Amino acid sequence: MTYYANIIIDISHEKLDKTFQYRIPEELFSKIFPGVQVIVPFGNGNRSIRGFVIEVTDRPEYDVGKIKDILSLAEESVVIEGQLIALAAWMRRNYGGTMNQALKTVIPIKQKAKLKEKRSIELLLSKEEAIEQLALYQKKHNRARERLLKELIEYNHIDYDIVIHKLNISSSVIKALEGQNILSVRHEQVYRNPVEHLKSKDYRIVLNEDQQRAVDTVMEDQSRGNALTYLLFGVTGSGKTEVYMELIAHVISRGKQAIVLIPEIALTYQTVMRFLGRFGERVSILNSRMSAGERYDQFLRAKNGEIDIIIGPRSALFTPFANLGLIIIDEEHESSYKSETVPRYHAREVAIQRGKMAGAFVVLGSATPSIESFYRAGKGIYRLLTLKQRVAERPLPTCYTIDLREELKAGNRSVISRKLRELMEDRLQKKQQTMLFLNRRGLSGFVSCRACGEVIKCPHCDVSLSLHRNNKLICHYCGYEEAAPKNCPKCGSKYISGFKAGTQKIEELVQSYFPQARTLRMDFDTTRKKGSYEQILSAFSAGEADILIGTQMIVKGHDFPGVTLVGVLAADMSMYVSDYCASERTFQLLTQAAGRAGRGDFPGEVVVQTYNPDHYSIVTAKEQDYEAFYQKEMVYRKLMHYPPVYHMAAMIFTSGAEQAAVMAAKRLARVIEGAKITGLQMVGPAGAIVAKVNDIYRQVIYLKHPEYECLVSLKDRLELFIKEKNDMKQVSITFDFDPVRGL
Ligand code: ADP
Ligand code: ZN
Ligand code: ZN
Repeated sequence: MTYYANIIIDISHEKLDKTFQYRIPEELFSKIFPGVQVIVPFGNGNRSIRGFVIEVTDRPEYDVGKIKDILSLAEESVVIEGQLIALAAWMRRNYGGTMNQALKTVIPIKQKAKLKEKRSIELLLSKEEAIEQLALYQKKHNRARERLLKELIEYNHIDYDIVIHKLNISSSVIKALEGQNILSVRHEQVYRNPVEHLKSKDYRIVLNEDQQRAVDTVMEDQSRGNALTYLLFGVTGSGKTEVYMELIAHVISRGKQAIVLIPEIALTYQTVMRFLGRFGERVSILNSRMSAGERYDQFLRAKNGEIDIIIGPRSALFTPFANLGLIIIDEEHESSYKSETVPRYHAREVAIQRGKMAGAFVVLGSATPSIESFYRAGKGIYRLLTLKQRVAERPLPTCYTIDLREELKAGNRSVISRKLRELMEDRLQKKQQTMLFLNRRGLSGFVSCRACGEVIKCPHCDVSLSLHRNNKLICHYCGYEEAAPKNCPKCGSKYISGFKAGTQKIEELVQSYFPQARTLRMDFDTTRKKGSYEQILSAFSAGEADILIGTQMIVKGHDFPGVTLVGVLAADMSMYVSDYCASERTFQLLTQAAGRAGRGDFPGEVVVQTYNPDHYSIVTAKEQDYEAFYQKEMVYRKLMHYPPVYHMAAMIFTSGAEQAAVMAAKRLARVIEGAKITGLQMVGPAGAIVAKVNDIYRQVIYLKHPEYECLVSLKDRLELFIKEKNDMKQVSITFDFDPVRGL
């Protein structure tokens, strides 16, 4: 009997996005099954090329005489579960794109390059000595040495490659300074196991009643063989992480494995240590700072059964555990769970699909569940588990809203209200900590009035208009346009403009109010350097500063028992981003920010400064009343036909030639109209929010329909149309289903 393999060729080209059939030579037969990577001859020239085996069959699909033989197994070929390939196929269909793109997302590819040893350079002199030495180099005009030393004085410890390439310093200079004991070159081992040195300790926390009930519910379902999806809805500090760990312990005791997804930004030392403290070296982590090789190593360890738990961001979902029992998605509402590259999948959906295939259950956790998840819990698609109280009956913080219009009227032009300033003073005296949170999301674009808080909105869409260069305001949902006004249309004030106040400005202001206060700032600028993010957090955690000022980075899941005051400086910021999730994000950010206060022995207070004290997202966040928010938000979603009531698919056209993008979008819009699908709504085509990036133009069509499957099959038709017409090569056309941000 002759067997054939259906193979996907490893070339990213849409025309090749189909399977090719090859004959399996007898000697290879026992080694070929789905997931194996092989080398095959391809094309007229029969050049050797890599492919993935998708299927083995005894039925030839072509003229047997024309079917070529597989040449060999690819070197370092990894057998991945057929399951993951099936998952890739599911992703391709549900999110669009090519099979190759889907496979590359799902399958860990071994990097050909050998793992490089990491080297770095460290200054051995004290600052004073170094400055003296620097003066010497300057006198002698030793430019390279001067440059290097200057940099070392500033940073102390620099990556070797940066020194060579960015500072343009030769290795002989480095050697010379090393010889004089001015610096040392450190050779860092690349750990195969990033957490090798840790052993688990005794675990002593006893779950409270709510936590135990949640665990019991899940375990009872499991013993009955029901693989369900759960939504663990627990206020901040209610002990969700303990519930996760207990569930993991159960799963592991049955010989299965667990994947824990945590947003990268919350993947701190603190969080990881809690898992390591309980499970020791059976845990591994993935993060984006690891090299592809290091990540691959973790996948290999998972496959070899060396670990039971992997913690990481979105991509950890594809860890090839053979006997997966549980997938946890913490902070499931986070938008970072949505991929921004094709296939634009949502980790939540893919987790559920993988869970289905593997017979694993999925636990989604959040203090502020996404509207989608809560909607599904309401429909019984997910089973809801609730933790109503904070651990140890710590009260939720008291929250004050400050109307910024009143502040201005009272003559306070500062971005810090009188109330907040007063409470900060109080905390400094009591030696308790404060966090100031600046909501910067949506900073770009929207235009507001400094006197009354009015924001210019689209008359048709209930989203803010975005300011474009030539002083035009544009709606990114319907294409509506108007000229930017000179005066506020509501109060006539001329103080109408884009709002800008950076964290740095706020830090200066705080220092001028409280010269004795020790401040730390965490934003894009202060965290660019490797490890600085962790440094700032641990310094604050250790009480080395009184006030931490930051962007949304600081609100994610961190546990600082010393913090008793949280100030939200401009709560409205995220409310006017041009997309339908804006109120949801505002509510989430405020609730999460408030959740940072009063996690220790003293109760917390929160000050929310806003122009919209009456907006439901602010009122309900103030009361920490998720369900009230949910009810109000759902009214809006239903009215506007937004997810989760309707599903949305954005079709994105990008091209270096503006006209080509516009024409392709118009053409596809006609095809969509021609399909006459009942219940389908189409918005656009229109220029995307950022209509041009690096001279690439972007057009968007939004499609809405109550049935997801209907949008998926429309996508299939459109993809086929594009492929057949074959004359839109200048334009790249991709899909984004249920987009979580404006496009
Ligand atoms: P969440 O993930 O819901 O924000 P955590 O799991 O981080 O909450 O718990 C908050 C704090 O309470 C942590 O310091 C945790 O160790 C502690 N904690 C959680 N559950 C218990 C418990 N049953 N008994 C004592 N302390 C607990
Ligand atoms: Zn509009
Ligand atoms: Zn105004």
